[in-house]
Amino acid sequence: MYAGHFAAGLAMKAREPRAPTWGLLLGVGVLDLLFGLFVSLGVERTTMTPGVAPGFRLDFIDWSHSLAMSLVWSLLFAALLFRRGLVAAAWCGVAVFSHFVLDFLMHPGDLALWPHAEAHVGLGLWTRWPRGWWFFELAFIAVCAAYYLARARRLRSFGGRGGWVVAVVLVLHVVNSPWLAPAR
Ligand SMILES: [Zn+2]
Repeated sequence: MYAGHFAAGLAMKAREPRAPTWGLLLGVGVLDLLFGLFVSLGVERTTMTPGVAPGFRLDFIDWSHSLAMSLVWSLLFAALLFRRGLVAAAWCGVAVFSHFVLDFLMHPGDLALWPHAEAHVGLGLWTRWPRGWWFFELAFIAVCAAYYLARARRLRSFGGRGGWVVAVVLVLHVVNSPWLAPAR
């Protein structure tokens, strides 16, 4: 998933307003930040596949995106935020792990259970539905955004610019569409 990760972060903010928004929105992206770092260091590998959905192949992403390492990064991120209080820190950890869960839906069997494990998982909506995945993710974003905006309106303790935040997530999703980025 792409923009859907941020929508999940907003839904978590709505569920637990004590969790810091920046911690949740950073948290949902931690695995991809590590992925970028590890690829630039040569620890992880990808291959571009223009014209073949989703436009790239993730050859080795076990250190950033395996099930076991996702749990490790979630716990580390929660530990870093511990002085924010247990509840807030725990939700930021959940935000990191939500990345693995949502990627599991999209990735075509390239998510290892642990680094260098034989077993890889992923339901593969990116390859099963080369364009349909976009509408699936849009529906997910819509549900999360509706929940976020409804809770913001009711509780009034967060989401003062909620409409703008949701608009940014939707723009990100449009930019990531298979029509504007045809390689995917
Ligand atoms: Zn990812």
